[in-house]
Amino acid sequence: MTKNILNDEAMPKRWYNILPDLPEKLPPPLNPVTKEPVKPQELEKIFPKSLIKQEVSEDRWIRIPDEVLEVYSYYRPTPLYRARRLEKFLKTKAKIYYKYEGVSPPGSHKPNTAIAQAYYNMKEGVETLTTETGAGQWGSALAFATKLFDLKCKVYMVRSSYEQKPYRRIMMETWGAQVIPSPSNLTESGRKILEKDPKCPGSLGIAISEAVETAVKSENTKYSLGSVLNHVLLHQTIVGLEVKKQFEIIDEKPDIMIGCVGGGSNFAGFCYPFVKDAEKENIKLLAVEPKACPSMTKGIYEYDYGDTAGLTPLLKMYTLGHDFIPPPIHAGGLRYHGCAPSLSLLVKKGVVEARAVGQREVFDAAVLFARTEGILPAPESAHAIRVAIDEALKSKEEERVIAFNLSGHGYFDLKAYDEFLRGSLPDT
Ligand SMILES: *Cc1c(COP(=O)(O)O)cnc(C)c1O
Repeated sequence: MTKNILNDEAMPKRWYNILPDLPEKLPPPLNPVTKEPVKPQELEKIFPKSLIKQEVSEDRWIRIPDEVLEVYSYYRPTPLYRARRLEKFLKTKAKIYYKYEGVSPPGSHKPNTAIAQAYYNMKEGVETLTTETGAGQWGSALAFATKLFDLKCKVYMVRSSYEQKPYRRIMMETWGAQVIPSPSNLTESGRKILEKDPKCPGSLGIAISEAVETAVKSENTKYSLGSVLNHVLLHQTIVGLEVKKQFEIIDEKPDIMIGCVGGGSNFAGFCYPFVKDAEKENIKLLAVEPKACPSMTKGIYEYDYGDTAGLTPLLKMYTLGHDFIPPPIHAGGLRYHGCAPSLSLLVKKGVVEARAVGQREVFDAAVLFARTEGILPAPESAHAIRVAIDEALKSKEEERVIAFNLSGHGYFDLKAYDEFLRGSLPDT
């Protein structure tokens, strides 16, 4: 491992918006009822004006508010490490670097946008934020961020995770959030599902429907989404902008950049600041998803809803269908039927290459990484590690520079590690 080479002074002060630099104009979100392009005002029921403005902004650079920079400085800049022991084990000539986002208090990249979203909502007088969470990474990031800006936080947590993975729920409650297992009988969307199937284990799509409905029907309450939307990906670019500076300081240039993809935010945050150089400088951008939820590699590029009930705008994206319920793999953060519209477009245009990997090969990589580099990666992040290792093994003789985003740690995922080590982890 190498020490953190970026000091506070060098921390980026602006986010990078890729919209003006996309190969073509992003297809607009459509109203779920009229199928007409959504007018920004229509979103004001669920989002604050400042975030809607960012969602549609064509400005390439957006200033990070001082209050947000202040909170970022509690854990940013995050370190860029060289994985020397992993390189040695693989007997590769490739150099492998990883950006480590697990140093944030909730343990992933997700607070980069949660902090910004909580701040803008607070500024506009919002009192409560609602959201959904699968395994709990996003919910815990928002619980943490809302506490810092004195907002209340209501989290609909997919019931199967609520029951099987108590630790992130406890973390959210410790930060003061209210956590509700979804589907619940607090919302119409939840009640409809429970009538048909009282034992429904829930899904991200259902939990989104419940959180959106609660925001629309309650006073001074807005909804917050942890991935997929333009403003979320925008906030995450702090990651890649730091990496750019860190590589400049050590006079290195990446040849391959890798990130895992659920909704696309950690991948975008890590890679978007490099997209403009990618063609010129021949940088390969690799987006990795699970074989069990293969939206980019097996889905279709089409307008679809972001949730199960069809309450959200229609987004043009790679999708497996809004009623697709992925098998219960341990990388809960990657179990989403769709993929960010901007990333979908970049995959469609061949700027980004998508790959799918299986659960067992992912845990092989996770355990090898822990045994060489020390950190137990989140199962989501281990998808990127798997492909980084595969690429390094192809570079036995070539001196390529490989960089991946270690989006979070896996210290709440020990049950998955236990199953793997005992040989009972299925390969769905
Ligand atoms: C949520 C999560 C992801 C996937 O979400 P993206 O929006 O695609 O980044 C990846 N890694 C970790 C650690 C997560 O918590």
